[in-house]
Amino acid sequence: MTSKEKKGPPPEQYLGPEKKPNDDDGTLRPQSLGEFLGQGTLKENLAVFIAAARKRGESLDHLFLTGPPGLGKTTLAQIVANELGAKFVQTSAPALDKPKDLIGLLTSLEQNDVFFIDEIHRLKPIIEEMLFIAMEDYKIDCVIGQGPGARTLRLPLQSFTLVGATTKAGNVSSPLVNRFGITCRFSFYGTEDMEAIVRRSAGILNIGINADAAALLARSARGTPRVLNRLLRRMRDFAQVQGEALITRQVVEEGLRRLEIDGLGLEKYDREILRIIVERYGGGPVGAETLAISIGESSDTLEDYYEPYLIQAGLLQRTPRGRMVTPLAYGHLGLSGGGDRETGRNSLF
Ligand code: ADP
Repeated sequence: MTSKEKKGPPPEQYLGPEKKPNDDDGTLRPQSLGEFLGQGTLKENLAVFIAAARKRGESLDHLFLTGPPGLGKTTLAQIVANELGAKFVQTSAPALDKPKDLIGLLTSLEQNDVFFIDEIHRLKPIIEEMLFIAMEDYKIDCVIGQGPGARTLRLPLQSFTLVGATTKAGNVSSPLVNRFGITCRFSFYGTEDMEAIVRRSAGILNIGINADAAALLARSARGTPRVLNRLLRRMRDFAQVQGEALITRQVVEEGLRRLEIDGLGLEKYDREILRIIVERYGGGPVGAETLAISIGESSDTLEDYYEPYLIQAGLLQRTPRGRMVTPLAYGHLGLSGGGDRETGRNSLF
């Protein structure tokens, strides 16, 4: 079994990246562009494209959403359907195993509906081929019968919008990418947007939270709304157990300490990754597969969830020869080495 196929249970205190049933996403998920906070330019442009499509009474161009997990790709796809007043049909590439799976979904679509495929980089080639015709000509080929008597029937489809989401844009074939008219690249949320999101979520969940507690939580959730909402729920647990009616800064500080989340918002596993590169591989470079095996994670989880934030925080570099830690990482871990490093130590706050 390669580390790519490895799927063990998530570590106990692990905050991401998978969607979990207890996320209660239904409650917290924004339903309109107005409620969708942050991602300024991306959202503004999309609002224009949606308004124009509505005005023309046409389906919106196919939409390609890329970025790390938990940043709002699924949420935005649903919002697009809401804003268009259309039905939202959702699937993921691994669920589209056979042509009939795709045919069943596409033929159920009505005019201007939104068809969402998550993890679109994992489509099988045969499904991808069918999708090309569906995206371009709103038609789909069905094979009727078997053997020498089999024949192909080309069925017409209603015009629809395909929304494809991926954490690995580089793994999507260029013929598929080229068929999307609009591309939205999600980036990690800034502190102000994260604060607005935590205030909104606390309001919906009916939890009181102090301004400085909200600010600290917002800084500790790796720029990712899904992680932020999970942290908020954990802080509610800590507050309730301590008999506090309100989430205070003290509750958050103590809660983060218990969850082993540090002042940069790094989890235990993030620090473990950096430490392993330093201690076992002299600071790098080390290949992603080797690193994934060393930390006991799948390379998908390493590449999709951990690395993007470590890179954005300036602690890790991807080089052609492998992963390397930066001088800042030595400082953050409180380790010697790494040349002209900045000191930051692994202080929590
Ligand atoms: P992805 O599909 O990129 O993995 P999701 O769309 O499932 O991420 O988002 C995860 C959760 O984060 C959502 O259920 C929602 O509660 C929250 N969320 C995401 N983006 C935003 C946003 N811009 N504003 C408020 N909440 C958000």
